[in-house]
Amino acid sequence: MCFEAPSMAMEKYSSFSKSSKQFLLSAPIDKSSNSSDKCCNGRAAKCELVDYDSLPEFLKDNEYILSYYRSEWPLKQTILSVFSIHNETLNIWTHLIGFFIFLMLTGYAASIFPAVSNGDPQLQLSAAGNSSNIFYIHRANQTTEPTASSSSQVIGSELPRWPFYLYLAGAMFCLLMSSACHLLSCHCSKTSYIMLRLDFAGISGLIVSSFYPLVYYTFTCNPFFRDLYLASITFFGLATVVVSLMPVFDSPQFRPVRAVLFACMAASGMVPIAHKMMAFGHRPEAMLTTGYEALMGMFYGVGVVVYAARVPERWLPGKFDLAGHSHQLFHVLVVAGAYTHYLASLVYLGWRETEGC
Ligand SMILES: [Zn+2]
Repeated sequence: MCFEAPSMAMEKYSSFSKSSKQFLLSAPIDKSSNSSDKCCNGRAAKCELVDYDSLPEFLKDNEYILSYYRSEWPLKQTILSVFSIHNETLNIWTHLIGFFIFLMLTGYAASIFPAVSNGDPQLQLSAAGNSSNIFYIHRANQTTEPTASSSSQVIGSELPRWPFYLYLAGAMFCLLMSSACHLLSCHCSKTSYIMLRLDFAGISGLIVSSFYPLVYYTFTCNPFFRDLYLASITFFGLATVVVSLMPVFDSPQFRPVRAVLFACMAASGMVPIAHKMMAFGHRPEAMLTTGYEALMGMFYGVGVVVYAARVPERWLPGKFDLAGHSHQLFHVLVVAGAYTHYLASLVYLGWRETEGC
């Protein structure tokens, strides 16, 4: 997620920032040293932490982090290093803990909004309101529009909830792939190449799935725009993943194609938000969700800037090797942004649950 992508997509390139763009441009394989053959064929390796200067090229990413590197460890030791201290420990755990947070949020949401609705949506929303702004929205609706028709309640109770859960799944997949990438990429260049692709797919999945609750529930009553926006973001997301997986697109001449795909992914998300405000700007739900989306953008934006600038380690190289370096801060901001969007998604879901069309 570091690269030119203006959104959270920056995350993945994270560990390979020396040229953040390099991830999209070429496989991070150290072809010159043939190190992949050595490590992946089970060459005995000493499981000790090394300095930056001792790293093979495919592991050289941030020259301001000077030590505590794992380098081409055997797979078993690499996996077990999730429980040891090195310069990726907090990168692994910030997103692994984020994954478990979203797992708990999914369980909590499922207790209030079962995947298949069969209860009274207003009772469900009142329960959810104990810990979210939905209660406020619900009360506001009662005040300003106290006579929701019975037909709209029927529609609300039959409202598909899969877009909401798709987002939660996308967030969990992204966080898990990111954590696994940080854990395993040091094993060898082949593993690094594969994990980066999976990380990249996870980021694309998070971006795409983030727009499903937004678009689906905002335009529930306008299937044309709902399907148009969802088809667009899904197409760009799939295209970006496919492009990233195809070796032919590793060549530099496809660099503009990758950049354009990311730009389209981000832009395709801005359009429905603007459309929402034009169509529903007078509604408290629209205002609140747009506020959450702005906050989410701020978290992701600050995260990307911190990541790209590589601060604070740039100022004091070697002082933030284990804790406090830019990538860890970036991870925390990504989780904060994803949680903010979870809150927005609850509002979207509550909006349509109570009103239908
Ligand atoms: Zn990362």
